[in-house]
Amino acid sequence: MTVLLIACGAEKQATPTMEDFKYTVDRFADIEILRYRVPDFEKLSLQQKELVYYLNQAALEGRDILYDQNNKYNLLVRRTLETIYENYAGNKNSDEFQKLTTYLKRVWMGNGIHHHYSEDKFIPEFSEKFFEEALRSVESHCSAVLLPGESIDDLIDKIKPVIFDPTVFPKRTNQEAGVDLIKTSGVNFYDGVTQLEVENFYNKMKNPNDSTPISFGLNSKLVKENGVIVEKLYKENGLYGAAITRIVGWLEKAAGVAENDKQKDVINTLIAYYKTGNLKTYDDYSIKWVQDLASVVDFVNGFTETYSDPLGMKGTWESMVNFKNIEATKRTKIISDNAQWFEDHSPIDPKFKKEEVKGVSAKVITATILAGDCYPATPIGVNLPNSNWIRHEYGSKSVTVENITEAYDQASLGNGFAEEFMWSDVERDRAKKFASLTNNLHTDLHECLGHGSGKLLPGVDPDALKAYGSTIEEARADLFGLYYMGDPKMTELGLLPDKDAFKAEYYQYIMNGLMTQLTRIQPGKNVEEAHMRNRQLIAAWAYEKGKVDNVIEMKVRDGETFVVVNDYEKLRTLFGQLLAIIQQIKSTGNFEAGRDLVEAYAVKVNPTLHAEVLDRYKKLNLAPYRGFVNPVYSLVKDGAGKVTDVKISYDENYIDQNLRYSKEYSSLPTFN
Ligand code: ZN
Repeated sequence: MTVLLIACGAEKQATPTMEDFKYTVDRFADIEILRYRVPDFEKLSLQQKELVYYLNQAALEGRDILYDQNNKYNLLVRRTLETIYENYAGNKNSDEFQKLTTYLKRVWMGNGIHHHYSEDKFIPEFSEKFFEEALRSVESHCSAVLLPGESIDDLIDKIKPVIFDPTVFPKRTNQEAGVDLIKTSGVNFYDGVTQLEVENFYNKMKNPNDSTPISFGLNSKLVKENGVIVEKLYKENGLYGAAITRIVGWLEKAAGVAENDKQKDVINTLIAYYKTGNLKTYDDYSIKWVQDLASVVDFVNGFTETYSDPLGMKGTWESMVNFKNIEATKRTKIISDNAQWFEDHSPIDPKFKKEEVKGVSAKVITATILAGDCYPATPIGVNLPNSNWIRHEYGSKSVTVENITEAYDQASLGNGFAEEFMWSDVERDRAKKFASLTNNLHTDLHECLGHGSGKLLPGVDPDALKAYGSTIEEARADLFGLYYMGDPKMTELGLLPDKDAFKAEYYQYIMNGLMTQLTRIQPGKNVEEAHMRNRQLIAAWAYEKGKVDNVIEMKVRDGETFVVVNDYEKLRTLFGQLLAIIQQIKSTGNFEAGRDLVEAYAVKVNPTLHAEVLDRYKKLNLAPYRGFVNPVYSLVKDGAGKVTDVKISYDENYIDQNLRYSKEYSSLPTFN
């Protein structure tokens, strides 16, 4: 990252206004790339800015780890394509080269050869012949991608099936029951072991009576070497050691400018974990992290979410650095101050309720950097840590990333979507008036209360729902939010301005779950991704169960299908009923019931409706997915080398950013 040297104190920067800001950056395939503002960055103290800078650097250093976790050939593919992109001497305006550029942009978006959302492998539109010629033409630049003794022919033989053959690694994470999930998944968490061997390996480690179980397998690759199964830890001097060493280096600098001793201890404990790979230390870190509520600057950095592992154990590397949005946090404070009231009034069986809801902390944050599994596509809400017992004992930290939702909302204004898919002006006006607010509020409720609510019965294995666990958990959190969104308590607490505001969220949720999220699915495919499954599960279940009372209708007008919600109060009752069912499944670890519910409602797509939705959507010429570029941060130093400010700029484009990241933050070998 650039270091600027100037003689005296820096000028104060101001954040560009929403009106002046150019949110859209790039467009390719099914993707639109946006940029986001970082409002009030200039209001942070110099020490806080420096802290952000070092944490940002630590975030960017982990990029290669995620590529390698997603597939063992991803770094090879990315580096080979970047080599061609940067050194090709032929016509860069040719159709073939443009298609190669698009493919490379898609690889950056997916952090590998699979679509970030559908998880299907995408196939390039340029020819194998062109690829071969182009690669040969840059042979003299290929030293970084050729293994010792390897020729360009060897490289071509190795890489072509990975890029072009649709039957090689067809899916990143396979969740289709009935087959070996490891063999049929493209991710790189296992090598040479069967699903059964993995399950046996970790089951032996688990002690069902342990009240503080560590998250076995979270930070490792499980491989068979000479017939023996060994766990390779992600740590300094271990797997991904080169990247982790650099992450640690930046974290050490961050610890030096921490806001307070508590935060310094949080960072130092994370460093200790990265050095040893010890998951007990990781739990220590998580506990300290969740208890640090005073610091303004905060971060996620590590092997965190387990969605990409078909067995739900391995954490993909991610990082997000942020600071508190003080004004908007007042809203989430009201929610967390009333957490116990919400838990007590939840429509679930009392034996699944928490007697005492602890430490539900919710805040609205401003992201300063997105990295690893949070880049280029990013979540708009985060609730961590994931360990169930830590959540139970110490609570969890829950955030809504409002500068990201701002970018989504601002970039969507007037794009024709509501005109095409909403039933009437009543729904559209309500959306215009309330949807930004209710979207944010639903995210708050989902993250801050939903995931944190309820409890497992004693002795229930938190992984009991296996491949269905993520969908059930997301549905649980969404339903909690939906149910309370329609509660009079919302206006009473001043969280919603109007008793009809919740209808904006209900309508959008059902329309999305029954119809419009199908824009993200390829013809002939089922719903795979956990959040999408959860949304269809809720919407399709409510539609079916509400039929007797005509709660939701699918109306056809001029050959086009629309969702109409006739009875919002009854819809709320249905959300409450489904929440009770889902909480029971979760609390008792009822795998069969979870599977049956998900398979019945969440997976299958109606092909006729799907085709219609895709057709109407296509006419709008919108991108169904969005990713982001980060701002660029640079240290400003005085003549003596002392940091005097941190500058932020918003002008880097998608290609330049990714090429730069591949140069400045790329410490891993091509194969790990
Ligand atoms: Zn969630």
